[in-house]
Amino acid sequence: MRARIRIGCVVALASISALTMTGCSTDTAGNGMPDVVATTNVWGSIAAAVAGPDAKVTSLISDPSADPHSFELGASQAADLSDADLIVYNGGGYDPYVDQVLESSHGIARVNAFDLRTDKSDNNEHVWFDYGTVVSVVRGIATALSDKDPAHASGYQERAKQFETDLQSIQDDVKKITVAHAHTPITETEPVPHYLVQAANLDDVTPLEFQKAIEDGNDPSPASTAAFRDLLDHKRAKVLIYNIQAQDNSTEALRKIATAAGVHVVEITETLPKGKSYLDWQRDTVARLAAALS
Ligand SMILES: [Zn+2]
Repeated sequence: MRARIRIGCVVALASISALTMTGCSTDTAGNGMPDVVATTNVWGSIAAAVAGPDAKVTSLISDPSADPHSFELGASQAADLSDADLIVYNGGGYDPYVDQVLESSHGIARVNAFDLRTDKSDNNEHVWFDYGTVVSVVRGIATALSDKDPAHASGYQERAKQFETDLQSIQDDVKKITVAHAHTPITETEPVPHYLVQAANLDDVTPLEFQKAIEDGNDPSPASTAAFRDLLDHKRAKVLIYNIQAQDNSTEALRKIATAAGVHVVEITETLPKGKSYLDWQRDTVARLAAALS
């Protein structure tokens, strides 16, 4: 893959010799706008909020039924990445193909969300559920776009500020959960909204062994699955947070047990549902979590 990307750059440079100093990150759309490429539509939506009408944003992963962890980069997507002016990506092993592109390309600005995470001792990669990290990403995008396109810097900065204000109102909703429901036991099929659960001060009582297996990409042991079932069956958690983007027979069975026992199920996804912005999606997720806890 790396070789093919390198060839792509060489071809681009050979055809436009005047651009040799700026490498293959130079605008190829020909409209003078910075090209931003995000890996998932989560980061794409955040980038688009800052970009506004002044930069073009492309997301590689938008399919709400696919698991981004198992995404494989296609040829045209590799070309999009190596032609970008700015790449906004998750990092932390979530989208490792980006680092390969960056290694063989020059002049592409980057914002790596995981590297900007608030708590460096926490290695959960789903950092878009950590609003402090998202603020750092938004500021990073505004700075990178202002550098690439100084004529529109004030627009980038203003939209970044507006985004932070909107995000603050969601953080206020999370605070209300903390006030009303701190230390309520909850459980999750996958620790995707880990940072949200922490911010809301809820107690994740998912069997540790089950959670570790999921995080490592392994099948949970029968014993840890049985412990999970038992916990739901006895309603020792008030809510089951359920990732509909990574479900199989075992998670569906857990969901059935939860529903039968009267444990509220809160569906979550790893990428944006169709037609929703990041802010809509987070506001909605927090509202559904609050409703399930009430
Ligand atoms: Zn995940």
